[in-house]
Amino acid sequence: MSELKYKRILLKLSGEALNGGDKSQIINSDILSQYAQEIKYIVEAGCQVAIVIGGGNIFRGASQNSGIDREQGDYMGMIATVINGMAIQSALEKAGLNTRLMSAIKMEQVAEPFIRRRAIRHLEKGRIVILGAGTGNPYFSTDSGGALRANELGVNVLLKGTSVDGVYTADPRKDATATKYDKISYEEAINKNLKVMDLTAFALCKENKMPIIVFDMNVAGNLMKVVQGEDVGTLVGE
Ligand code: UDP
Repeated sequence: MSELKYKRILLKLSGEALNGGDKSQIINSDILSQYAQEIKYIVEAGCQVAIVIGGGNIFRGASQNSGIDREQGDYMGMIATVINGMAIQSALEKAGLNTRLMSAIKMEQVAEPFIRRRAIRHLEKGRIVILGAGTGNPYFSTDSGGALRANELGVNVLLKGTSVDGVYTADPRKDATATKYDKISYEEAINKNLKVMDLTAFALCKENKMPIIVFDMNVAGNLMKVVQGEDVGTLVGE
């Protein structure tokens, strides 16, 4: 097996990835076990893994149009990410991996509180650290939570696992002429409004020179290729 290029990573998955595109269900167990296998390969190869998962398959504060106040909705969204974190924790443990779920909102019966030094210790011991409840604050997204934790935990790269294979000149699902970037700078992505992540998340990565790789998490073996430094997806960096 070739050397790992990235020895500590943060994997950001959207909540919607978990239902496999089927909005009639919240969590698809096949997707969960498929993701667990992909993650298992890289952990067994020696990669330290932190995971931030979204909550969009359950609840999104800002866009829900439910009459619920923004802040209340955002807290509901954060709690939704803990539910997804528990689901992924269960799938990873079924695959024989050691995990810790840490939450930015105290929920001691189900998750450890997020303590940076403790999270790093877990990573060093080879435990997968699942980070629930985003930043713990309303008005943020789990992309921002991912960017924040990636920097705090000193990962080598933030991996954004999606259902498209990278960043395109336009939305490839709407524009057949769209082409994929292999590499793009933070500036170019912002100037071209390519929406790799929301601006808060993006600014945090740019300021701290945290590279981001956007790749298709649904292709078997892709995650391993990314951590080995193969040309998969799009690298956003300086
Ligand atoms: N959220 C929040 N603060 C955070 C992270 C998340 O308020 O630090 C709320 C917000 O309402 C968001 C929801 O949780 O819409 C679910 O997260 P997100 O939309 O990022 O999930 P994804 O799109 O990745 O599934």
